[in-house]
Amino acid sequence: MAVQDLRDFFAVLEKNGKVDKISKEVTISEIPVVMRQKEKEAKTVLFENIAGYKNKLFNNILGGRDFLALAFGCSREDVIKEYMKRAENPIETKMVAEGPVQEKIFTGDDVDIKQFPFIVHSAKDAGRYITAGMVIVRDPETGVRNVSINRMQLKGPNKIGVRMMPPQHLGVIYEKAEKMDKPLEVAVAIGNHPLDLVAAVTSPPFGVDELTIAGGLRGEPLEMVKCKTIDLEVPARAELVIEGVLYPREREKEGPFGDFMGYYVPVMENHVMHIKAITMRQDPLLQVIKAGSIEDTHLLALSREAQVYRAVAGTNAKIKALSLCPMIFTCAISIEKQFEEEAKNVIMAAFGSYSWLKTCIVVDHDVDAFDPVDVWWAVSTRMRPDKGVIVIPNAVGFPRDPHKLHQSKLGIDATVPMGNWDEYERITVPLKE
Ligand code: MN
Repeated sequence: MAVQDLRDFFAVLEKNGKVDKISKEVTISEIPVVMRQKEKEAKTVLFENIAGYKNKLFNNILGGRDFLALAFGCSREDVIKEYMKRAENPIETKMVAEGPVQEKIFTGDDVDIKQFPFIVHSAKDAGRYITAGMVIVRDPETGVRNVSINRMQLKGPNKIGVRMMPPQHLGVIYEKAEKMDKPLEVAVAIGNHPLDLVAAVTSPPFGVDELTIAGGLRGEPLEMVKCKTIDLEVPARAELVIEGVLYPREREKEGPFGDFMGYYVPVMENHVMHIKAITMRQDPLLQVIKAGSIEDTHLLALSREAQVYRAVAGTNAKIKALSLCPMIFTCAISIEKQFEEEAKNVIMAAFGSYSWLKTCIVVDHDVDAFDPVDVWWAVSTRMRPDKGVIVIPNAVGFPRDPHKLHQSKLGIDATVPMGNWDEYERITVPLKE
């Protein structure tokens, strides 16, 4: 039976010993500390009993490469190839008459987003934030759907702040609606199938519905139901959906917020969503994703890893594994080296394929590209600083960069000189007799 929704995936994680359920009562302010601990332990965590709140909350369903491997049903090394294969075959969504996400419906004065235990993520954040919501809108000109994940600050019982900015598609679509002087309807789905989340953070060209990619990744159409108060559709098996509207020319202060780089983004004038309805399962499981966490990075990394993989594979390199974790500005690539200077070609291809990439480290196939400690070991014992380091000045990098920290590149060849494997055989523990 295919994994149809988050609950099915939870069952897979549980079977593989990856879930810690916390049944003792915790306060909402204790949650971030426990989340951090569980992230270190590579465990999904479910808070079943939160003081003052009725609903359950979970975090870290993608707490490492192993979790992605479970979501795709393949080995850690094959996740990128599997992703590429499936993403190339998008499948249109399918309408169904009803779904569990509409078991309970709140409208009008019954709407209160603050009753749900969304947390304060970082010490100086402006307040509680929704961080794992798939934001669904429709282009007012073409009618094509767009899906993205945006941070949202809880501001009142029926009001949330939404961060968006062109060229991000949601920002472009809002600007179109604003120019037409039309409100933009928005639905936010929380508690999603992990592959839907992967699809939601991809960056296909403008005009591609990310949920068709979700269908491709799932290998079957994503089932959708009609919203109750707006003209949009949402995943039928999500846990909770917020239906609402963004009016033209409305902005409010939002932030600060601790973002994916591990720094605070300052207070900004941002958009405001007015909630018309909340629909949900009887007992919804609410998801939070901490920006910059292992989970967040694995989500953000995958489509970018595919981009880099394609380009590096184009050099005919024999790639064993490739990783943009634990920070998507740095890539580790393990190869079976065929030519002495091959790492340089690999590095150039990688930089050419993904502009945010700042550091690229090439290691041999006996090094675990998914383990930064192993990669650092290879740099320490196999890199030749006078020959194996390439610095590329003045290149395009991550754009939010007032001090030009990201507009140049560093390539590191940490591979063993060809034909010298006998000198570099890694020691292993002796086998027990
Ligand atoms: Mn898009």
